[in-house]
Amino acid sequence: MPVLKADLGACQGYANCVMAASDVYDIDDDGVVVLLREHISDADLPRVQEAARSCPVSALTVEAEPE
Ligand code: SF4
Repeated sequence: MPVLKADLGACQGYANCVMAASDVYDIDDDGVVVLLREHISDADLPRVQEAARSCPVSALTVEAEPE
């Protein structure tokens, strides 16, 4: 199952990701992204990847799970 990663140092709190997939991404009180889930099902993958691509600072990546 693909794994979602966030670069918390890069995140600027634009919240594009939250608007695109609020079941997976949230923003904490400091304005930094929070991953509500790290393992993404194949069914959710296109939507979650699209949300990751919407991040203006490319803080989000979806990686294939290591063998
Ligand atoms: S879109 Fe990017 S910068 Fe904005 S909250 Fe999400 S991870 Fe952070």
